[in-house]
Amino acid sequence: NQEEILCIGCGVHVQTEDPKGLGYAPTSALEKESIICQRCFRLKHYNEVQDVSLTDDDFLKILNKVGETDSLIVKIVDIFDFNGSWLPGLNRFAGNNDVLLIGNKVDLLPKSIKHNRLIHWMKQSARELGLNPVDVLLVSAEKGNGISEAAEAIENYRKNKDVYVVGCTNVGKSTFINRLIKEVSGEADIITTSHFPGTTLDIIEIPLDDGTALIDTPGIINHHQMAHFVDKRDLKLITPKKEIKPKVYQLNEEQTLFFGGLARLDYLSGGRRSLTCYISNELGIHRTKLEKADELYKNHAGEMLYPPRRDQMDEFPTMVRHEFSLKEGKMDIVFSGLGWVTVNEPGAKVAAYVPKGVNVILRKSLI
Ligand code: GDP
Repeated sequence: NQEEILCIGCGVHVQTEDPKGLGYAPTSALEKESIICQRCFRLKHYNEVQDVSLTDDDFLKILNKVGETDSLIVKIVDIFDFNGSWLPGLNRFAGNNDVLLIGNKVDLLPKSIKHNRLIHWMKQSARELGLNPVDVLLVSAEKGNGISEAAEAIENYRKNKDVYVVGCTNVGKSTFINRLIKEVSGEADIITTSHFPGTTLDIIEIPLDDGTALIDTPGIINHHQMAHFVDKRDLKLITPKKEIKPKVYQLNEEQTLFFGGLARLDYLSGGRRSLTCYISNELGIHRTKLEKADELYKNHAGEMLYPPRRDQMDEFPTMVRHEFSLKEGKMDIVFSGLGWVTVNEPGAKVAAYVPKGVNVILRKSLI
C-alpha cells in the first residue's frame, strides 16, 4: 500500500504519480529497501534542491509551523512578478520572526533600471501588503549576482537561528538555495544522509555549521499568476531569459497595444507620446487603433494575439479593464508576471487589461 510509504529523508508520503508534486519517487525507487523521495535523492547525491509544489492547505500547515519556530524567514519573490509571486498569508504566520525579502532575477533588468529604486518600491509594496521586512535584497540566483551579499545578510540576521526559505513556485527558490549551498559550503560536501531528520513537516533541512539549518519549504502555487494562464510550452515566451530590451512605441491618442493575447494597454488621452515596454523580448506586441481593438481580440486571440493558444481560449479568464490617470512624473504600469510599461510625462490616461485575477498596478518609474 503506497500510502504507508514514507521518505526516510524528509518523512513525506511517497507517491509515484506526479513528478512535480511533493513526495514523488519513480516506481523503481520503491523496490529499494530504504525509500527516499526524488527531492531528497537529488539533495543527497547532487547537493541540489528541486522545487516541488504543494496544495494551498498543505502550504498553510507549513506556514503555521514556521510561525511557531524561532527563526529567520527568507522570502523569495520574482521581481517580474512581484504581486503574483507574493505569499499573501506570510505576514500573519511569520509571528515574531524576522523576514528577509529577496527579489530574484535581477539579471533581467536593463542597465538603465536603478536598483535602489526597485528596492525602495519593494519595501513600500511589502509594507502595503502588511509585511515589514528586516531588509530587502536583489539577487540573480542564476547568474550569481548578490549571492554572497545575501549569504552574509542571512548570516547576520539569523542570529544563530534556523533559516526557513519560502516562496511560490517558479520564483527561482531552488536555484537560489543551490547557489547558497555552493556559496556557504565552497567545494565541501556539506550534505550527508545522516543530516536528514525524519519529520512530518515535509521540508528539507540543509545543516549549517553551528548546528542550525537552512530549511527549504515546498513552493506554493499562486493560482492568480499570469504563468498559470499560459500553456507550459509557451512559458518561455513570457518568462524573459535574457536582459530585457526596452521597446519604445510612439503612440497617438486612442491607440492600443496588445501583449500577445495576455494583456492590453489602451492609450486614451494625453497627446502623442512615447511609451517604453519592458516585456520579455519573445512576446509579440501588436499595435492597433482603439476602435478596432475589441474586434481584433475577438477574432485573433489565440493566434495572432498569442499566447494563449486557440485551444486554451475556452478556459482563459475574461480580461478585466483597469483605468489609470497618470498625474505625477514618470510612471510604470506594471502587469504582474509580464513586465511593465513606462510613461514619461504626467497627463496620460490609459486603460490596462489583464486576465481576471492577475494584478496590474501603477508605481513610480524605476528609471
Ligand atoms: P522554484 O520553482 O522557485 O524552485 O524555481 P526554479 O529555481 O526552478 O526556477 C524557475 C525558473 O526561473 C527556471 O526557469 C530558472 O531558470 C529561472 N530562474 C531562476 N533564477 C533566475 C535568475 O536569477 N535569473 C533568471 N533570468 N532566471 C532565473
